Amino acid sequence: MGSGRFVAPKTLEVKLNDGGSRVLTAGRIFLNLGTHAAIPNVLGLTAAQPLTHVEALELDYLPRHLIVIGGGYVGLELAQAYRRFGSDVTIIETGPQLLAREDIDVSQEMRRILDEEGIQVLFKTELLQVTGRSGDRVTLTVRTPSGDQQIDGSDILVAAGRVPNTAGIGLKEAGVELDGRGYIRVNARLETSAPDVWAIGECAGSPQFTHISEDDFRIVRDNLAGGHRGTGDRLVPYCMFTDPPLARVGLSEGEAERQGIIARVARLPMDAVLAAQANDQRQGFMKALVSDSDDRILGFTMIGAAAGEVVAVVHTAMLAGLSYSKLADADFAHPTMAEGLSFLFSRVPPRAVQQTRSKVA
Ligand SMILES: Cc1cc2nc3c(=O)[nH]c(=O)nc-3n(C[C@H](O)[C@H](O)[C@H](O)COP(=O)(O)OP(=O)(O)OC[C@H]3O[C@@H](n4cnc5c(N)ncnc54)[C@H](O)[C@@H]3O)c2cc1C
Repeated sequence: MGSGRFVAPKTLEVKLNDGGSRVLTAGRIFLNLGTHAAIPNVLGLTAAQPLTHVEALELDYLPRHLIVIGGGYVGLELAQAYRRFGSDVTIIETGPQLLAREDIDVSQEMRRILDEEGIQVLFKTELLQVTGRSGDRVTLTVRTPSGDQQIDGSDILVAAGRVPNTAGIGLKEAGVELDGRGYIRVNARLETSAPDVWAIGECAGSPQFTHISEDDFRIVRDNLAGGHRGTGDRLVPYCMFTDPPLARVGLSEGEAERQGIIARVARLPMDAVLAAQANDQRQGFMKALVSDSDDRILGFTMIGAAAGEVVAVVHTAMLAGLSYSKLADADFAHPTMAEGLSFLFSRVPPRAVQQTRSKVA
């Protein structure tokens, strides 16, 4: 247990946690360094000793007013948790919406849910300066579209992105190249620029999820055993564990549009799902994207109870290359949240080409 640093190719010096050091050499080296929370370069922010997710998960007091910097999944999960513990919570987001990678309807629904719980969100808001100390009293000066404002709070949580743990550990000396953002450059087999050195997980720029880091490991393991796997064609599901959760696999509408893919879109409010009615878990909706040129499922997003489980059904169907109509016709057990999938996929509009033909006829 210690902190490793390259001192020459394939040679590491390890500063041991218990004191002292060791030098290790190996024929093959696997870098699995992870990332840490980015602290934006804002006047007074570091001096205010803000919380990151690490400290926020270990607090032994309740913040009176927690100000969360960043409206991504780490910020939203912890904002909702602290609001439910009883803190006042304000989220500051520089962009025009929460969850920048999601479609606007998804972000708006999540905002509505958080709003109902009394969480305040400021959009298009830039943090200019911080005074005071987190855990006691802080004042944030922010620039909003309606002018500069001051926000008083007791604690700051920084959830504004991640920085790879690749600095100051001799990667250059080891011949391991980084990209412009400090992530390790790898090919699809996760090989770095140095012979017999691999990188896996977040430090290799892979999607930032535990299951993907584990899949990176499996790719390297299988290839060392003679396999031919790569990271290229991976389907990456994920779930944000708010209540209700948000889960997605495959393309969003925005991503399809940016890639020039014509997709048919079906939506279903969770209120229309019988299990959601039975359990009174009516918040959210499901959305599916289906290819217009064939009947393949291109993407699925859900905000709603058990979204992380329901997404696995669609993920499996996508891996199997099933037509959406298989899910529309499937007899899912009643009353389960997955039952909503047959309602959802029954709503997929006919292909644009078919519609034109039937109009002509
Ligand atoms: C608040 C939060 C919630 C999350 N929730 C989810 C979730 O619900 N589901 C999900 O899939 N993902 C979630 N993630 C993301 C997930 O935690 C990461 O994607 C995953 O841990 C990345 O794994 P990794 O192997 O790349 O790195 P890590 O798990 O970060 O492991 C890297 C390890 O390397 C050590 N290390 C770094 N440098 C050195 C060095 N020089 N010498 C020795 N050791 C070193 C680090 O201390 C660390 O222990 C969450 C992340 C955060 C921050």
